[in-house]
Amino acid sequence: MTQDLLFDPPAAPVIPVAGDIRQFPVRRIFCVGRNYAAHAAEMGNEVDREAPFYFTKSAHALCLSGATIPYPPGTADCHFEMEFVVAIGAPAFRVAEADAMRAVMGYACGIDLTRRDLQAAAKDKRRPWDLGKDFENAALIAAITPAEQFGEIAKQAIRLTHDGEVAQQADLSEMVWSVPELIAHLSRFYHLAPGDLIYTGTPAGVGPVRPGSVLSGEVEGLTPVEVSFVQAE
Ligand code: MN
Repeated sequence: MTQDLLFDPPAAPVIPVAGDIRQFPVRRIFCVGRNYAAHAAEMGNEVDREAPFYFTKSAHALCLSGATIPYPPGTADCHFEMEFVVAIGAPAFRVAEADAMRAVMGYACGIDLTRRDLQAAAKDKRRPWDLGKDFENAALIAAITPAEQFGEIAKQAIRLTHDGEVAQQADLSEMVWSVPELIAHLSRFYHLAPGDLIYTGTPAGVGPVRPGSVLSGEVEGLTPVEVSFVQAE
């Protein structure tokens, strides 16, 4: 017997996969903080080389590339953070670094939108970052490229242009914590599973968007992530 529900549960958001008619249903979104030394410095922080740290966004914060979105509510300082995103396709729990890449299904270009003013207020009061980080359309993402097609993570360029001007420019070898290190570490605390995404942190050059802004973020070898902002109603 099917159990009666008060309302239809929301469907998992899905991400297109390059060269595949099947899509990737999203389960959880993990985000890494301060994973490029130059970005940590521009925010007045030091990289913690003891261990990576994380925050999360709900799956309902996801927004696909190509969208035009309203300027987010409750902020006067919404920032872009261009990121390399790892899509998990197999379970991983307490995995060694040497085995961690088996859990990877593919990679995508993503932007971690941040209500910087709310994040800063939370930091000042030693409160959680949720209001600054987890809100509708805050996890922008483009189509996933399968890992075997992308190849090894090396010195691929990562960049973001804002209204045609380059704002962020780095390469993936500048990450403080590598993808296998991140997966191995996260898997000590979570049963990673298919559908999980890891936003691996942003390089230096983050900045504010305004209504009318057009962002384009690229990682060499991946489909770019593109978004435009309009004045909220
Ligand atoms: Mn970020």
